[in-house]
Amino acid sequence: MQRILQPGEIEALDSIHFPRVRLPQPSLLFQERAARLMQLADGNPIADYLRFAARIVQAQQHRARELSTPEALPQTQIDQANANGMPLLSTHGPLPQHWQHSLRAMIDELRSDNANTPAGLTPVLERLYSQDDEALNRLGRQILAGNIGRDELAMAPLVMAALQVEYAHIAAHLLEKTVPYAEPATVCPVCGSTPVASVLRIGGQAAGHRYLHCSLCCTEWHMVRVKCSHCESTKGINYQGMQTLEGKTDAAGREVQDQVVLAETCDQCHTYRKIANQEKDPYAEPLADDLASLMLDLLMGESDFARASDNPLLAIEKPLAV
Ligand SMILES: [Zn+2]
Ligand SMILES: [Zn+2]
Repeated sequence: MQRILQPGEIEALDSIHFPRVRLPQPSLLFQERAARLMQLADGNPIADYLRFAARIVQAQQHRARELSTPEALPQTQIDQANANGMPLLSTHGPLPQHWQHSLRAMIDELRSDNANTPAGLTPVLERLYSQDDEALNRLGRQILAGNIGRDELAMAPLVMAALQVEYAHIAAHLLEKTVPYAEPATVCPVCGSTPVASVLRIGGQAAGHRYLHCSLCCTEWHMVRVKCSHCESTKGINYQGMQTLEGKTDAAGREVQDQVVLAETCDQCHTYRKIANQEKDPYAEPLADDLASLMLDLLMGESDFARASDNPLLAIEKPLAV
């Protein structure tokens, strides 16, 4: 049966030479992310947290380099995902084998420099380290499901960071052509997770295109800018930045438009998700810039728009209703 082109794909035909999906290169990605977090920490109201997050990401980078080549996905799994427009991997099934080793390796690295670990987190590292594989599996599944209570709050970013290393590693070894056109287009076509933010890229064939950045496996997939990254509506998309929200204007009375990070709001679903613009700053990195612009979230908290999805390195308490 012939596929019917979706609106985004029709527009995409205009310039077919840019990648639809950008699979991660984990070691480089984590290196650039850690550097960006350190850069954004200077003068930031949450500087200490950003510097600790940078150390988590450095530990991710070191762990990513140690992992051996994963087993190839079974062809039947690839075929089924493509035939059904489903993501290649499911985060509802078993977690990547031995992911707990990654978590412990990262904790080892963080513990080796306890002087630079926020005091409250030292017992959290110890508590995570002492759990057996099965307990960690239960915790990992609970956190991936977004079921984060007060008990899990401090552990969640570390668990997510370890899972991110594992899923990014699997994603890095895929072939771009095997990645499905998943439905809805607002979830990652590799692992089905929500994007942490989007990024307007510069450089190479992706230049000038907007990509959604997966909060888990770090895959990026293209979505035209006219669409809401949460509900795909093309109506009522607007942008809010710190300077706009604070009413700052330039000498001529215009709103200042040099903001690297903006909150993209949608009048249809009443959510927002941030977009990091590399044309304004070539070092902009979606997860790091999202985390470092927490003040923008605080201002958006006073608006009618709810945040569409979370940053994996910043846990928010929200246990699921049972
Ligand atoms: Zn993903
Ligand atoms: Zn929307």
